[in-house]
Amino acid sequence: MNLETLVSTIHGTVTPVDQDLVERAYKVAEIAHRDHVRASGEPYIQHCLAVASILIELGLPAAAVAAGLLHDTVEDTDVTLEALERDFGEEVATLVAGVTKLTQLPRVSHYDGNHRGESSTKVELAKENLRKTFLAMGDDVRVVLIKLADRVHNMRTLAHLSPEKRTRIAKETLEIYAPLANRLGIWQVKWELEDLSFRYVYPDKYREIAEFVDERRVDREKTMRTIITKLSKALSEAGIEADIRGRSKHLYSIYKKMERKKVPFDMVHDVRGVRIIVETEQDCYVALGVIHNRWKPIPGAFDDYIAIPKDNLYQSLHTAVIYEDGRTLEAQFRTPEMHENAEYGIAAHWRYKEGSHRDDVYEQKILWLRKLMDWRQDVENASDFVDAMKSDVFDDRVYVFTPRGDIIDLPAGSTPIDFAYNIHTEIGHRCRGAKVDGKLISLDYKLQTGNSVEILTAKRGGPSRDWLNPSLEMVKSHRARSKIKQWFKRQDRAQNISQGRTLLDKEMRRLGIDSISYDHIASELEFAQVDDLLAAIGIGDLQITRIIKRVIGEEEKEFEIPEGLATSTSLEIVPTEEVTILGLKGLLTNLGRCCKPVPGDPIIGYITRGRGATIHRQDCPNVLRIKDTERLVQISWGQPVKTYPVSVQIRAYDRDGLMRDVSTLVSNEGINMSSINVSTKNSLAIFDLVMGVTDISHLSRVLTRLEALPNVLEARRLRPG
Ligand code: MN
Repeated sequence: MNLETLVSTIHGTVTPVDQDLVERAYKVAEIAHRDHVRASGEPYIQHCLAVASILIELGLPAAAVAAGLLHDTVEDTDVTLEALERDFGEEVATLVAGVTKLTQLPRVSHYDGNHRGESSTKVELAKENLRKTFLAMGDDVRVVLIKLADRVHNMRTLAHLSPEKRTRIAKETLEIYAPLANRLGIWQVKWELEDLSFRYVYPDKYREIAEFVDERRVDREKTMRTIITKLSKALSEAGIEADIRGRSKHLYSIYKKMERKKVPFDMVHDVRGVRIIVETEQDCYVALGVIHNRWKPIPGAFDDYIAIPKDNLYQSLHTAVIYEDGRTLEAQFRTPEMHENAEYGIAAHWRYKEGSHRDDVYEQKILWLRKLMDWRQDVENASDFVDAMKSDVFDDRVYVFTPRGDIIDLPAGSTPIDFAYNIHTEIGHRCRGAKVDGKLISLDYKLQTGNSVEILTAKRGGPSRDWLNPSLEMVKSHRARSKIKQWFKRQDRAQNISQGRTLLDKEMRRLGIDSISYDHIASELEFAQVDDLLAAIGIGDLQITRIIKRVIGEEEKEFEIPEGLATSTSLEIVPTEEVTILGLKGLLTNLGRCCKPVPGDPIIGYITRGRGATIHRQDCPNVLRIKDTERLVQISWGQPVKTYPVSVQIRAYDRDGLMRDVSTLVSNEGINMSSINVSTKNSLAIFDLVMGVTDISHLSRVLTRLEALPNVLEARRLRPG
């Protein structure tokens, strides 16, 4: 690439001033980097040109393009910021300064490493740097975009670096830069960064998936052409003009889906996608109707991101139908404007100069970014910050309203407690109840987008330790969690120790464990003395679930079955094999009575009218006779889960519906109960259950949740003797 081709691609009208700016920037960069070569052997200026070219592709104006050309000069050459300001003005100089600041900071190869290891200071430093990086990004979004463009080109040329460097940079890209591009809505940059990193972070998986995809390319393209022909015919009959494109899945997204759903390649890859671009918003809905009429929609697969845009302001309609061959077809509907926004995200602002509502959208995005950076200043510790970035920033979010109508942006799964802490730390501490849309709800209620939330507070007092118990799922955001911990940290040590002891005693009794001493736990977890362990629990720095996983889970790998109970309830002594069905999202399933499939048989699902799906063997004569083939869906057996029967006793003050609440909770946890006995004496009810759990942390979680039910006094495991 050279300067002329670069200038010729600049978006929109290029004024002589713009052209002059870019040309001068090029000259300065070229001279400054004259003696530098890239690891590939190319002259360094090629990197500068490539970064500038990516910025042009994103639609950024001349000043940012010039800054892109100059982005490495201050860091790597004799050029000073003062010189840049003198020659190019304040705007360009500020952008280069911003990028330089970022370049000097992030080195985050293994921040999820062991906190107590010898490299812990290093890890902490890396996290601290990363934190500063994100804070610095709040200054000007264009700085972030230049940094992203820089990263894209570095990733494209990563092959020339040493293997260690490749892995480190690719990992950092996957964990930080790709999600950041996603949050800014720049889809193009996001998937390119992901696929480029994927190749180096998981080389074996990458090769495997790339080969699979390649093998099936011809077939897939043929089917896709047929689908597109049918779709455009159906749409034009409805009077809609549409631009229909097959949507290929990116390698990393295939991999992630395989991992997430624990399914083989075939099941992910068989999902075909089309993108339908129509003139107006109205047409999106009409086109959706046309497709839902023609093929059977899959329940639960429809999402309206036009009415409720995603937090990065992405808009489209999503649906999935069962296509004629019995396999899934995903479809997205959007207008050209929504498409532009989806591909370029926050950068789309510069691509459209005219039209004022674009600026509103842009302002909203900037506002969001500023808010994000703002509260991050008071996260006190760098590890928490990185975890927060990973879960709060990159996951999906919900939007709820305050009584005054202000919108609060929270991570999905947030509760009224998260909301309260988001409003004000004091409101969080004193939160005792909440109303959602005018109704009283419990504090573990999961807020939904659109809810209007009102917090009921006490005059004084502090948070409850239960809020930090992950099994109860009462707090989702790291902000709330860190505020709650801070509160307990300020209490005196003796009080924290005694609270910690109460909590640990209770859990040990509940799990029926008496063979493990606290000294042993403390030394396993590298606490100098038991009091330190207990204080950490009291403060909320150490979760009991972690003790169970790390210490108790290790020693109690297998459950013993209480002898008396085993015979009296005719329990099977062998662990049971629970089987799940994959491929039917949220559908009720039952096994065909005709062919009685067992795990391992090749199976297929049949969508019934109103009774969910029936699972048949693929060679079942009834299936072979089915004419309505569009109601057949591809499914497979999931991983068998090994469970152990364990006896549990619940003591409670009896009330209406208690029995139902217990069994609903147990079944929501995916647990089979093999026996249940209830006796009542005066107003005290005693439930004796035998349930199948996967391990001791699973048991601890269920017991904690059972005990949180209204009127339940105690839920604990019964041990023999
Ligand atoms: Mn660079």
